[in-house]
Amino acid sequence: MSAAPVPLLDLKAQYATIRSEIQAAMDRVVESQHFILGPEVEALEREVAAYTQCAHGVGVSSGTDALLVALMAIDVRPGDEVITTAYSFFATAGAVARLGARPVFVDIEPQTYNIDPAQIAAAITPRTRAIIPVHLYGQMADMEQIMAVAVRHGLVVIEDAAQAIGAEQRGRRAGSVGHMGCFSFFPSKNLGGFGDGGMVTTNDPNLADRLALLRGHGARPKYHHQFIGGNFRLDALQAAVLRVKLRHLDGWIVGRQRNAALYRRLLAAAGDPVAAPAERPDGRHIYNQFVVRTSQRDPLMARLRAHAIGHEVYYPVPLHLQECFADLGYRTGDLPESESAARETLALPIYPELRADQIERVVAALADRSEDSQ
Ligand SMILES: *Cc1c(COP(=O)(O)O)cnc(C)c1O
Repeated sequence: MSAAPVPLLDLKAQYATIRSEIQAAMDRVVESQHFILGPEVEALEREVAAYTQCAHGVGVSSGTDALLVALMAIDVRPGDEVITTAYSFFATAGAVARLGARPVFVDIEPQTYNIDPAQIAAAITPRTRAIIPVHLYGQMADMEQIMAVAVRHGLVVIEDAAQAIGAEQRGRRAGSVGHMGCFSFFPSKNLGGFGDGGMVTTNDPNLADRLALLRGHGARPKYHHQFIGGNFRLDALQAAVLRVKLRHLDGWIVGRQRNAALYRRLLAAAGDPVAAPAERPDGRHIYNQFVVRTSQRDPLMARLRAHAIGHEVYYPVPLHLQECFADLGYRTGDLPESESAARETLALPIYPELRADQIERVVAALADRSEDSQ
């Protein structure tokens, strides 16, 4: 049993397919010696805005800073409340807390792991300013119901689309349905740079203007500061790399979807050793992660480890039970679906360059109980 490892993600395999294009793009920036914002970033902003069906894109330093600057653009401040899901990467709630506002957590739908829209209304108070749905793993939260409740209560919706660039629901793309969409170009996202990067998209020209101001310390003109912003700027080198990769993104999404379909077939044929993720019928899932569910996670992870198969738990502790949020007063049992997802889910390799024989090995390892008692 010494088959080659199957990594969770293989960025070298992707780079090998685009090396010359990337090197030409990076050379262009290096020769220009224009490293921050500028024409490459502006071009990427136009291209990502078009790709996500938005009027404006504002390039920023990370997905985390995209969320932070989006909340700053609507002037979220201490005493405000922002409703979000209890089951996400930390940045979603961290951005709220960093502005002194209170994250108010809502439980998830057990099938999609996205915020349960039916539970949002009960979390709204006179202090609620915004809702941040997260399109987890590459599938959009139920935006029709979320927008309906937001409109009814006059709330801003900021989509955390960090894992969902190119995802769709009822023909509309992630980041274009709410008031703002936040994207991450962290290397493991479907559109990943060679470092940190992010973008905020919006159809509102006033918000776009405010976001651009806040990204550069709120200055206009230079050295005259209307607002207290920050340094949330995007590098030209990242933009040049991302522009090359954006041209390949749809092809990579097709590869991820093909791999997901093969997993489903092979898992069913193996008697469903784990539950495959649910796909909504009204959308395009872009499979940033392929997350399966099992009540036997520990023995299963031991088996994957023994077969050198990459895997990861996203996320082992739901946000309402994180130590840094203890003062919010949540207890175990408050948000049961988020808590059981944190106990039972597991991400498997899904990257586009993954081969069919590798997927067969992953499923064989999941189905093989022969080593469990060792
Ligand atoms: C990756 C991610 C972020 C943060 O993006 P960074 O670029 O790493 O700062 C925020 N929210 C979600 C859901 C993410 O997956």
